[in-house]
Amino acid sequence: MRNMLRFLCFVMATAIAGSAWANIVADMRLIGDAERTRFVVDMETSPEYVISRLSDPDRLIIDLPDAEFDGPPEPGEGRGLVSDYRYGLIAPGKARIVLDLGAPVEVVNTFVLDPVSPEPARLVIDLAPTSTEQFQAAVGRDRPQQARARAAPRPGPPLADTGLPLVVLDPGHGGIDSGAVGQGGLREKEVTLEFALALAQELRAAGKLEPLLTREDDTFVSLSDRVDVARDNQAALFVSIHADTVRQDYVRGATVYTLSDDASDELAAALAERENRSDILAGLAIEDQPDEVADILVDLARRETRNLSVRFAKSLVGDMEDAFTLNSNPWRRAAFKVLKAPEVPSVLLELGYLSNAEDEEMFRSEKWPEAQAKAIARAVESFLADQLTAGKRVP
Ligand SMILES: [Zn+2]
Repeated sequence: MRNMLRFLCFVMATAIAGSAWANIVADMRLIGDAERTRFVVDMETSPEYVISRLSDPDRLIIDLPDAEFDGPPEPGEGRGLVSDYRYGLIAPGKARIVLDLGAPVEVVNTFVLDPVSPEPARLVIDLAPTSTEQFQAAVGRDRPQQARARAAPRPGPPLADTGLPLVVLDPGHGGIDSGAVGQGGLREKEVTLEFALALAQELRAAGKLEPLLTREDDTFVSLSDRVDVARDNQAALFVSIHADTVRQDYVRGATVYTLSDDASDELAAALAERENRSDILAGLAIEDQPDEVADILVDLARRETRNLSVRFAKSLVGDMEDAFTLNSNPWRRAAFKVLKAPEVPSVLLELGYLSNAEDEEMFRSEKWPEAQAKAIARAVESFLADQLTAGKRVP
């Protein structure tokens, strides 16, 4: 409970600190039908906004600089031309709403109504059906706008040069991407952040390794930025932390995933596919990145990294036995984008599954996650200590 309280205080403090200057989004709704759909956003004061389109899949992105959402963002229900929508922070002080489109749309009208007490300010966006060609042309025109609105990768906090091996902890999801939601309403992005903060504290207290988090609050970080934090800081290890949902609600228990082009099983494949959609959910264009660099040295490094990742995954599973309820098949493989740093051993840790009622209850329990964070901290320390004595490539 203490940890949960500490976490809630942290969240509230962040919210209060932010609300001093931000324009608050109080409500939003869809009106109309498939002929004409209106999207309305209620805000404290008249907002600035940028609208852009993305294809593959078709989305309409509304960026609201200096805005925040009142209360926890819940995904909205679709109507008319909009099949679904979600909202949240894409970066500190940068709010974003992403409308998933059921068909190509044209923005036929947008306007802002200034607040007249007791009515709030309103941003109104009217959509009508259009052809795929017209929509694609608009996507092309919006591209530079998209690039401007997109959050620049945040430079990490300055690192003290402790000389200690660096471990990057990556709390999954955040901001506009809530991740999975349990039946009791617990959100994955909160579970992962709480655990990463506890683990970082544990590592820092032991003083053998330097932890670095890819996010320390409720903001969005793209998958490639997460990988870059590990690469740019020459991390000795990268641990991505998750608590997803899977279709099979009886599946429970902690599972460690490593990178593999071929998934070990169907569940792992489905999970990786879901995880890899994070950037799409957040309204980012997916650039075609050449996946593999044809270079023999990079290839060798990649192979050694994969071997090290597997070795760590196996020892981690062993070290987790006492503190965790383990999944019946606790080491699985799939093609997770976030595990693709060629030179940093990387694993993805599912703490449990929010689709399982017992796991969700465990995440809410009073004792969570002290013993579990301790177990992971000791496992990471002993793995890297072994690597050091074996003269492996640990900075
Ligand atoms: Zn996840």
